[in-house]
Amino acid sequence: MNPTNSLGGATLKIEQAKRVKQIPPYVFAEIDRKKTELREKGMDLIDLGIGDPDIPTPKRIIDRLTEAAQDAENHRYPSYVGMLDFRQAVADWYKKRFQVSLDPRTEVLTLIGSKEGIAHIPLAFVDPGEYVLVSDPGYPVYRVSTIFAGGTPHSMPLVRENQFLPDLSKIPPQIAEKAKLMFINYPNNPTAAVAERPFFEEVVEFATKYEIIICHDAAYSEIAFDGYRPMSLMEVNGARDVAIEFHSLSKTFNMTGWRIGFAVGNREVVGGLGRIKTNIDSGAFQAVQLAGIEALNGYGTETDEIISIYTARRNLLVKGLRAAGLEVESPKATFYLWVKVPNKYTSAEFATLLMEKSGIVGTPGNGFGDAGEGYIRFALTVGEDRIREAEDRLKELKV
Ligand SMILES: *Cc1c(COP(=O)(O)O)cnc(C)c1O
Repeated sequence: MNPTNSLGGATLKIEQAKRVKQIPPYVFAEIDRKKTELREKGMDLIDLGIGDPDIPTPKRIIDRLTEAAQDAENHRYPSYVGMLDFRQAVADWYKKRFQVSLDPRTEVLTLIGSKEGIAHIPLAFVDPGEYVLVSDPGYPVYRVSTIFAGGTPHSMPLVRENQFLPDLSKIPPQIAEKAKLMFINYPNNPTAAVAERPFFEEVVEFATKYEIIICHDAAYSEIAFDGYRPMSLMEVNGARDVAIEFHSLSKTFNMTGWRIGFAVGNREVVGGLGRIKTNIDSGAFQAVQLAGIEALNGYGTETDEIISIYTARRNLLVKGLRAAGLEVESPKATFYLWVKVPNKYTSAEFATLLMEKSGIVGTPGNGFGDAGEGYIRFALTVGEDRIREAEDRLKELKV
């Protein structure tokens, strides 16, 4: 018999849906526990675990929000697809940044952060029994959103020997035939790898052959060093027939908390995602969209300064890690370092050791997928003084 509740009735047995039980285990739980434990002991932790910029949002964008928030017009439900002015600003930015022309009415969709769009797109296109090709290691949302739609994720391992690009020739044809979507992400989180035109051309060709929708996550297109400028997948011939590209203001303008992003590309794909959203959310706060317009229209105002901050941090941490005997490539883009763990440790063991001995927090690579085992990720999202401190502590570490 079920226990009774305060009203004398039988209490409900709370059973979660099967899709929730299918979510991969949260591998960072152990790290989180350790972090709390060490902090409670009074240890001064340098947290390089979190991919969230510490640099504030530029003032011009905050000012625009403040002003727009005063206007009662903006207090009502926004349009589902996003204000046309915001979508126009996106199209203008694409033209200026990538020389790609987009129709703001049909080829641009406003998102409540790009994560929102990535999480919803499988609902529009994936039926149970169909596959979704996902990068491994990769942003965990690709896999989870596939599962939520009843689809089956198929890992595309990203390995150093292939410059952390998926080897499309290794995807079994019978899987490719049943695949509906492919998630790729360059510049890449967590490996910090970049992709060039020939790879994107190969992806478009593959997608055309197998009729797969390419979902390119371009969240880090504006975080690049030494003059390097990542390209948009939309620059490739034929991409508009098969692809959607996700962007975010989060990393470009240090706006992670604001929840504003966008997707562009094939109008049927953009429209399909929009159809799902119409039935789930009611759009992004208009005042935030107006601030987003300010962000995009003034693109370039802060870029050099932001990049020079990350460049200095990257150079310091790469130097410190190498001095400690660790193997790391200096990345061309993203604010991550993808560091090889010494052979005698697993990713989790090394992350724990580093935390206990040096008070440095990194993210074990296996948390991004099985193919991330053997690596640890560091985010350049703390100030130079803290990175110098990390460098000093690394000198003491014998690995
Ligand atoms: C940060 C991040 C996003 C999500 O950004 P939003 O804040 O939701 O726009 C998407 N993809 C990757 C790979 C990221 O690292």
